Amino acid sequence: MLDLAFRNVEILDGTGAVAFRGDVGIQDGRIAAVVEEGALGAAHTEIDGDGACLAPGFIDTHAHDDGAFLRHPDMGFKLAQGVTSVVSGNCGFSAAPADPSVNATSASGGILAGLTGDFTDLAGYFDLVLAGKPAINNMMLVGHNTIRTLTMGMDKREPTAAELATMRGHVELAMEQGACGFSSGLIYRPGRYSLTAEVAEIAAAVAPFDGLYATHMRNEGDRLLEAVDESLSIAQDAGVHLHISHHKSAGKPNWGKVGESLAKVDAALQAGQRVTLDVYPYTAGSGRMIEYFNLDRINTAFAEVVRIAGCPAFREFEGKMVTEIAVERGISIDDVVRLILTAEKGERTICIHFIIDEADIETNLAHVDMMVGSDGIPDLRGRPHPRLFGTFPRVLSRYVRERGVLSLPEAVRRMTSLSARTFGLTERGEVREGWYADLVLFEPSTITDEASYDDPKREPTGVRAVVVNGQLALHEGQHRGVGSGAMLRYRQGMHGTR
Ligand SMILES: [Zn+2]
Repeated sequence: MLDLAFRNVEILDGTGAVAFRGDVGIQDGRIAAVVEEGALGAAHTEIDGDGACLAPGFIDTHAHDDGAFLRHPDMGFKLAQGVTSVVSGNCGFSAAPADPSVNATSASGGILAGLTGDFTDLAGYFDLVLAGKPAINNMMLVGHNTIRTLTMGMDKREPTAAELATMRGHVELAMEQGACGFSSGLIYRPGRYSLTAEVAEIAAAVAPFDGLYATHMRNEGDRLLEAVDESLSIAQDAGVHLHISHHKSAGKPNWGKVGESLAKVDAALQAGQRVTLDVYPYTAGSGRMIEYFNLDRINTAFAEVVRIAGCPAFREFEGKMVTEIAVERGISIDDVVRLILTAEKGERTICIHFIIDEADIETNLAHVDMMVGSDGIPDLRGRPHPRLFGTFPRVLSRYVRERGVLSLPEAVRRMTSLSARTFGLTERGEVREGWYADLVLFEPSTITDEASYDDPKREPTGVRAVVVNGQLALHEGQHRGVGSGAMLRYRQGMHGTR
C-alpha cells in the first residue's frame, strides 16, 4: 500500500510542460507513481486535490537560513510558502567553516543570527541541524566573508600566499562535505577589501567539483555593469558556473539598467559561459543598516527611503520610515540615522530600503535563466521584509496570475527544476517517478502572499499541502511538525542517515 496519495490533481511536473490531470502516489520518501486519474492503488493517507495544482516543492535559491535551521527548525515561514529546499550560505556568509573560539558570525550582522554550537566544518553543522529535525531541506554554499574573517580577521589588505591557501582549503573541505559552491558578498566587510584576483583564486577551488560561484556583486547601483563584468571575469578565470544573486539595479538613477546587465549575461551565455541568476519579487531590499551608511557623510536621500525592520536598540522604531521617526522626534533625518547606528546594539539594526523599480522586476522575471530567491533574513522579531514569508506565492499571484509576466508552468520550472539542476539537488525539482517526494499542492487561482510591509509575518493562503521527503509536513494550514528535512550534498543525495 502507498504511504500517501494525491488524487484528482493538475500535475505541473516542473519541466515547464503544461499541467496534466492525474494522481501521484508516494512511498518510502519517493514518488512511487505518476499516473492518469483513477489508476492509482490504495494509500494510508489520501488527499483529494479537487483540481488543485501539484508541483515539485519550491526551491529558495537565495536563503540566509544557516542560523534559522538551529533556531527555528520548524522553518514555518518557508514551509507555508510551499518551499521544501533552500540554498543557504549566501552573500559570503555561511555557517561553516567555524571556529567556536572566534565569533566570526558577528561580521554578518543579523544574517547568521542563531548560530551556536561547537561544530567547525560543514559535516558538523549538518549533524547539529539534523539533530533538531528540520522541516525542510538545506543545500549550502561556503562563504567568502566567513572564511576571510576566520583566516585574517577584518584586515583591509590582500591575503598572503599562506592565507590564500588556508581559505582555499576551507572551500575544498566544504565541497568535499557537500557544499554546492562558493559565495561572495563584495559589498560587505571584509569581502569588499578583496581584489578581483583573490576572489577568482578562491572560486577556482570549486572548479574540480564542478561547483558554482554565487555572488552578491560589488555594486548593484551606479556601477552595476562594471560589477557584472567583474563577476563574469571571476567565474571565467576560475572556470566555474556563475550565479548572480538578487539581480537588481538599485537607486532611481539606475532604474532600467537591469536590461543592459542581462544583455551582458546573454552575451556571455552566447560565448559559452555558464551563467544563471535569481531575483526576489519586491521593490525593496533589506540588510544590515550599518552597511549602507557612512556616519561621517550620511546619504540623506538614501535615508529617506529606509524603513526600520529589526532594531534591538529602539524596538519602537520597528515598522517606521526614518522620515517618520525624524518628525516624531523633531530631529533631522541624518540625526535619526546617527541615533540608531551609534546606540548600543545599533549595529544590529536591520533595515528595508525602497530602491528597486517595479518594471525591473518584470524584466528580470522574463529572463529564461532567472530563478527565484527570497533573500529573507530570518529574524522573526520586529517587522522583517515580507519576502521572508511571501516570495513564492507572490510570484504566482502577482507576476503570473495578475501581470502575466510568465506562464504558470514556466514560473514553476524557475522555482523547481532549474534551481535543482543548477544547485545540484539530486533527484529533486520534478514530479517524476523514483525521485524524492518534495511536493506542494496549491490553488493557482487563489494563491496569495499575505505578508506586507505593515504585517510581514502572515503566512500565504492557497497552499494546501506540502510534502518533504515523502512526509506530509503541512496540510490545510496545519504545520504537522514531522521534521523530515534533509541536509543535501551537491549532486549526491543527502548527508547522514536520513
Ligand atoms: Zn546579498
